[in-house]
Amino acid sequence: MNRGLLLVISGPSGAGKGTVCEAYKTNCGNHVWNSVSMTTRAPRAGEVEGESYYFVTREEFQRKIENDEFLEFAEVYGNFYGTPRAEVEKKLAAGSDVILEIDIQGALNVQENTTEGIFIFILPPSMNELKKRIIGRGSETPESLLTRFKSAYNEINYVSKYNYAITNHTVDQAYSDLMCIVRAERCRVTRVTNEILTLKEEEL
Ligand code: 5GP
Repeated sequence: MNRGLLLVISGPSGAGKGTVCEAYKTNCGNHVWNSVSMTTRAPRAGEVEGESYYFVTREEFQRKIENDEFLEFAEVYGNFYGTPRAEVEKKLAAGSDVILEIDIQGALNVQENTTEGIFIFILPPSMNELKKRIIGRGSETPESLLTRFKSAYNEINYVSKYNYAITNHTVDQAYSDLMCIVRAERCRVTRVTNEILTLKEEEL
């Protein structure tokens, strides 16, 4: 069986990463798994432990760093976020695609720590639209809103470190672009020939 694809998805707060990933998962549920990150940030209203995130204390997070339990981790807006390594490896080995919806520092860490990964950046249609979306979420204080909006300006410069950019005009169009990327990646010569070469001569 072919190893699953490791899809690393970043983009500024409010660009719609979560919605695009959710649409992808809804339509391709059997083949794809959204990694559940661990964070030291407090849960927002409606967030569910073990689904949205694993919510842990800073001490617990630190212990896991020391035990090398993260594929990557980063400090974002004063809180720690990390991808637990074991489950990702298990899913990829079982042939399931894995989505990591992580910030840019984390994505750059994955680039350094592994040889696999398809790096996809989700862009908003415009900065004005981004601002509207962040305000519309209503989950930020005026200070955190300003922090997120300022960092969005800086973050967009990192798009050049990624393999693909999707501009999120509408969820349907962005989701369909993501599907196209995944299909193209599945057709990479290296993946296709790897699969063919797993046949032994006596099986021909
Ligand atoms: P939020 O607090 O809005 O849920 O997430 C803040 C930022 O942290 C987002 O850019 C999100 O993609 C990122 N993030 C979530 N989980 C992880 C993770 O496991 N690792 C890293 N590096 N970033 C993450």
